[in-house]
Amino acid sequence: MLLFQLLNIAFSLFFVTTALNNSRHPTIASILIAVVCATTLIISKLKRIKHLYQLNTHAFIIGLLWTWHIISRYREFQSYGNEFLLFSLMIVFFISAISLADSFTAFCLHSLPPALAVLLLDQFHHSLILLFTITIPLLSLRLHGIMQKRSESFTTELVNRLKEEREKFSDLSMIDPLTGLFNRRGLKNKLNNLTEERATSHYIVLLDIDHFKAYNDNYGHTMGDNALVAVAVAIRDAVRSRDIVVRYGGEEFLILLIDVDESYAVARAEDVRQAVLDLKIPHMFNDKVATHVTLSAGVAIMADSDIQASLTAADSALYLAKSRGRNTVEIAIRQPPVSNQLRMAGRGHDV
Ligand code: GH3
Ligand code: MG
Ligand code: MG
Repeated sequence: MLLFQLLNIAFSLFFVTTALNNSRHPTIASILIAVVCATTLIISKLKRIKHLYQLNTHAFIIGLLWTWHIISRYREFQSYGNEFLLFSLMIVFFISAISLADSFTAFCLHSLPPALAVLLLDQFHHSLILLFTITIPLLSLRLHGIMQKRSESFTTELVNRLKEEREKFSDLSMIDPLTGLFNRRGLKNKLNNLTEERATSHYIVLLDIDHFKAYNDNYGHTMGDNALVAVAVAIRDAVRSRDIVVRYGGEEFLILLIDVDESYAVARAEDVRQAVLDLKIPHMFNDKVATHVTLSAGVAIMADSDIQASLTAADSALYLAKSRGRNTVEIAIRQPPVSNQLRMAGRGHDV
């Protein structure tokens, strides 16, 4: 827009100075063009009224002023034939083509009134030349617009595709490839999106497969992977879809139970423990615990969205579950000192 104003100011001043140099009065229209454009330029720089600026209206007003200028000057230059008309028309189209190429409506509003005036003043004697002068920039502008639209739609499509790919990769980077559960990054993302309401409370359950090193050592890594996948599915199936299940480490899992109370959290942890046992994955080396794969669990409330404190508490509860024989669920008590924080919540059963 700046270019449109500057070009109009430059050409109108050119007409004003040539008139003065030749001891003639400049046309009122040429002075007005310079004044209007300079004023608009200054006003449009003030942020406050920027949104009031209307390109089409402005282009139309300046176009009308050029028409007025051409009509007023034509009387003096009539003897020079159509050269003055052609020259004026070319200037108007030059300004339009250079500065209004992005807006076809503004282009037409600015250049068509002078073009029409020129055709009428010439009384259609040189219509072919004049029409040629008008048509060529109009055609090239249309072509420019079509090409720009095409390249814009291509760019938009490309950007959208990139966005989709980025979302896909971002989702994938939050998923553990072996089990399909969320990884730690996925948990972090879910925690960020967790809407915190005063009345709700969330619980976390930390789960760890018992004697899994021995399982790996004796059954092999592939069998170990298969067991991990089966356990992951059992955990996911034992909780609600709104609960967040995470593969927290090698053979460690975490469940974030959304908007639940303590008894519900302990009951779900117990369900998970039982569901894994019910898989009946043979584990002859689950030292004195069972003959199948089992896991131990620690449950803790997530108070004030403090995941770290909650993890520490759940980890202590899990440690206690391990020390109390494994295949069991323990819950951390919230307030008292660490040494007294734990109490037993439920015991598992050997098979
Ligand atoms: P505890 O009952 O005290 O938890 O004993 P544990 O043997 O389960 O604990 P430890 O931390 O000593 O061993 C964990 C084992 O889990 C070590 C590793 O062999 C196995 N593991 C960790 N990640 C994977 C994995 O992605 N695939 C397989 N197959 N095994 C894994
Ligand atoms: Mg472990
Ligand atoms: Mg373990």
